[in-house]
Amino acid sequence: METLQRLTRRQLEALRFVATHGAEGRGVSLNAIAQRLGVRAPSALAHLGPLEQLGLISRFRGKSRVTARGQSCLDEYLRHHRVAESLFARAGLSADATHTAALEVDLALSHRTVEEICGAEGHPEVCPHGQPIAPCAASKSPRHSVARPKTAALSARPVRPGRVGSSSRVPPFRTRGD
Ligand SMILES: [Zn+2]
Ligand SMILES: [Zn+2]
Repeated sequence: METLQRLTRRQLEALRFVATHGAEGRGVSLNAIAQRLGVRAPSALAHLGPLEQLGLISRFRGKSRVTARGQSCLDEYLRHHRVAESLFARAGLSADATHTAALEVDLALSHRTVEEICGAEGHPEVCPHGQPIAPCAASKSPRHSVARPKTAALSARPVRPGRVGSSSRVPPFRTRGD
């Protein structure tokens, strides 16, 4: 099973908090994590154990820090989430609804499935909230860039106002979406 598929939503939330607030090697205290999760310290610690065992965070003197592996796991998570959002946008869901729907599947999808959706969606460069989607392996291959140059891929895609098109790159949803 892939790392993302082994994480619970709460563990992911803790990992994201540690990555965001443990910058410059300072680390994040257990109390801060517990406060963020809205639980007591022992419960927060129970979420951190699996993250440490998976090598996603390191703990030292009570402070948690994200590891390189943890950071790449979060990058992968955002790919999963935003590609799923793009799929739901194509299905006709509103930008807000795509975020909620993507939360229901983003941890469960395999990397392979996400790559297949990404290709089927024409390798979207942004999610419905205008957040960037990192290029996948397929879109970076020379064969792909010859066969589907960026401009052709974009102009070939149906653009619906307020949804996935270039007009939504600076959307009003930034605070809610990922
Ligand atoms: Zn792709
Ligand atoms: Zn989004």
